[in-house]
Parts: sequence; C-alpha cells; structure tokens
Amino acid sequence: MAIEDDVVVVGGGIAGMTAALAVAREGADVRLLSHKDSTLRSASGLVDVLGYPPDETGESSGPLADPFEAIPELPDSHPYRTVGVEGVRDALGLFDEVVGDRYRGGHTDRNALVPTHGGSIKPTARYPATAAAGLASDDRNALLVGFETVTDFDAPLAADHLVSAGVPFAARGATISFPGDFRVDAKITRFADALDADERVTVQGDGYATELPAREALAEAVKPHLRGEERVGFPALLGQHDTEAVRESLEAELGAAVFEVPMGPPSLPGMRLEGALVAACREAGVRFTTGNPVVDYESDGTAGGGEIGAVRVERNGASIPFHADQFVLATGGLVGKGIDSDREGVAEPIFDCHVPHSSDRYDWFADDAFGDHPFARFGVATDDDLRPLDQKGEPEFSNLRAAGAVLGGYDFAAEKSGSGVSLATGRAAGRGAALEVTR
Ligand SMILES: Cc1cc2nc3c(=O)[nH]c(=O)nc-3n(C[C@H](O)[C@H](O)[C@H](O)COP(=O)(O)OP(=O)(O)OC[C@H]3O[C@@H](n4cnc5c(N)ncnc54)[C@H](O)[C@@H]3O)c2cc1C
Repeated sequence: MAIEDDVVVVGGGIAGMTAALAVAREGADVRLLSHKDSTLRSASGLVDVLGYPPDETGESSGPLADPFEAIPELPDSHPYRTVGVEGVRDALGLFDEVVGDRYRGGHTDRNALVPTHGGSIKPTARYPATAAAGLASDDRNALLVGFETVTDFDAPLAADHLVSAGVPFAARGATISFPGDFRVDAKITRFADALDADERVTVQGDGYATELPAREALAEAVKPHLRGEERVGFPALLGQHDTEAVRESLEAELGAAVFEVPMGPPSLPGMRLEGALVAACREAGVRFTTGNPVVDYESDGTAGGGEIGAVRVERNGASIPFHADQFVLATGGLVGKGIDSDREGVAEPIFDCHVPHSSDRYDWFADDAFGDHPFARFGVATDDDLRPLDQKGEPEFSNLRAAGAVLGGYDFAAEKSGSGVSLATGRAAGRGAALEVTR
C-alpha cells in the first residue's frame, strides 16, 4: 500500500525537526524520515545564531555582540540572507515556544557569553537554563569542578583559560572523584542517571564507609574545595531528565549557584534538546519513520523544475516509496552525510542536487590549517524559496526545499551559526512546503 503524506521531511536533526514542526503547525500532514542520530547528540546544546562574522580574508575578528545587526551584512549566498532577519526571529520564536523555560537568552538580541569545557567563551543566542549561572559576563567568583574519570573536562585548566581570557571574576578549578563505586570507564549518562534517581552511593570516609544519596554525596565531596566562591560549575552531566531538580539540590547543599558547563560529544544538553524537539513534533502530529536511509527518489522525469513523486527508503533489501506533494531535504552536511565528498568531487547523494565546488581539489582547502577553507561552505545553493538550484541556476525540482547543514554558503564552525541556520531555514522550508499544500 502506498504511503502518502502532504510533506515528507528527510533528516531528523534540528533542521528536519523544525521543518516538520513548521509543516504540522500550518495544518498539513507530515512525515519525518531519518536514518541515524543527528549531530544534536554531539553538539553542545547551545543555539548559536552568529557568533563571529564570516571571515574570508583569514584575518581574525572579534565576537559579535548582536547577530541581528550583522545578518544584513552577510554575503548574498549566506542562508540567513535567504530567510532574512525576520525569518531568523520567527524561527527563534518557535524554538522559544518549544523549549519554554529550559532555555534562556530570549530576553535580548545580544549574544550571551557561555564558558565551554575547554575554557573558551562562546557567543551564543540561546543556552540551557542549567548553564545560566555560568555566564562569563557575571562577576561572581567561580569554582569549576571536574571528575577524575571525565577527562574531557580539565577543571583547573578550563579555569586558567577563563582567567587568561580576562573574565571579570576569579576562577579556580578542582578535580575530584565522583562519589560512589562507578566503573573507571563509566559513561557520563551513568553519572547523570545516578543524580537523576538520587541513588544511594557508598562514600569512603577516614576508616569508615557510609551511604548517602548521590546529590548530597557530590556536594559533600565539593565542599572542602569551596573557598567562598558564589557559583560552582560542573561538566554537563547533572541528570538526563531531572536536571533542574539535581541542580537545585546541589545549590541547597552547597549554598552557591550551580551551573553546567556545555561539553563535547556525547552531549547531554544536546540530547535533552533532541528530546524536547521530538516531543514537540509528536505533540504536533508529526509521524516519524526512523532507522533506515532514504536512498533514491521517483520523479516525473522532467529536467529543470521536474516534480518529485516519492522518496525511496531501503529497508532489509526492499525499497519502500514514501509519496508526498512536497519534500524537504534536511540531511545535514559533511558530518551528517547529507553531503558526500571523495576524490572525484562533492555530491548530494539522494537527489543528486548540484553542489557548487571547484573541480580542482587543491582549491577546497586553504594553506593555513586554521584558515578559511572553502570545503567548510560546501552544500546546495537555493533560490529565495530554499529550492536547491542546478548548475544553470534553475530549481532542481519544483517541490523540493532544503534546510540546515546540507545548505552551502556558510561555515557553521567558524561563524558559530550551526543551530541558528538549521532553525531558520528549517522553519522557512517547512512553512513554504506546507503553504503549497494548504493554499
Ligand atoms: C561536534 C559538533 C558540535 C557542534 N556544536 C554546536 C554548537 O555548540 N552550537 C551550534 O549552534 N551548533 C553546533 N553544531 C552545529 C549544529 O549541530 C549543526 O549545524 C546542526 O545541528 C545541523 O543540523 P541538521 O539538522 O542540518 O543536520 P544533522 O544534525 O547532521 O542531521 C541530519 C539528519 O539527517 C539524517 N540523514 C542523513 N542522510 C540521510 C538519508 N539518506 N536518509 C535518511 N536520513 C538521513 C541523519 O541521520 C540525521 O538525522 C555542532 C556540530 C557538531 C558536529
């Protein structure tokens, strides 16, 4: 039996889920097809809109105070120029509605400065509420606490980096062992679960052992290191689900504000954000079909503006068509496998959309390892309606839009714009697709 929806979104990252949500909110039927986990699980959970202006000269420029002021100055090829400042604002409005009080930053256009696990300071537009007490613009002295087995966060080193960066507060770091009998290779989710459930853990004292609830035991382990600091930062593992309760318990025990420092992969704040987006999509009626790749499509065969009738998902050797009126491509960039590159060239593997790039591979890279590498901006180019363009500048298909990291024209890592572009283009592509079927 043919499966038919108004809109099919391919890709389950922040762009695909935002697109699907936007479709559902316009009253159209939508199905989201996704193969594997998205980059949300690796990303910090911070929602960057624009932290640094794109710098094609290789000269370093400072962080941006107000990303919205900089958007009109971006090159025409940048996805933000396609959706416009209002498009970015509308997408952040949708995001704020979905995440509610789990995120902060919506009170201002200005970037917040959030310390990250390496001790660098990230200009970002939205940050988890659990990171709020850690802002670098806050002048309260801070103690950073790391754990012996969580080697990604070297608290004393991160504190030194913050001090060298000139933050307006004193910062110190301490490394402790997480109280209880945890395996040396315990994953951060194991510690988070123990804090969520407030498990009883065995604490070794001087010649005795006692059992304490995990949150109290952690606070007791930190207390000897506190020297009057008014806030304490931990790596982002304070619970998977009940983070606010864990944080509040620690604050009460320590008599200091407690915050999480965003971490690299695997990222609990990224997973929590993924959970919030999935829940919002389900509530809005989005249908999910996950675990298998979209490998191909069916079209009416007309070149330059032809129409897609279905995408094909490969499942156990069978090829299953998913029909729709409109399609959104949100398969990610080079990291998410939405864009493929090899010695022969750069390609978009499902619809074979044109990906502008030089045929000479040496032009893909800058000489300087930290320079402005053209490959970082590889992706599909679109018209004003986010429809991917072919080599001649015509829409590849009349009913295909693209969103997120599959788009070209921006370097998310250098600019710090990853989630912002995914949100803004995801919302615009989803809404555009829905309006085609509802009008
Ligand atoms: C390590 C890391 C850290 C980051 N840190 C930050 C940060 O701090 N702040 C920030 O704003 N941004 C950050 N980003 C960037 C941000 O995560 C991405 O720009 C953004 O999330 C991309 O979202 P996306 O939905 O376009 O793609 P992705 O998240 O890559 O999702 C693509 C989805 O498409 C699916 N897919 C791909 N091919 C197929 C197929 N053939 N069939 C079906 N499904 C398919 C994938 O399985 C996946 O679900 C980070 C990225 C990385 C990698």
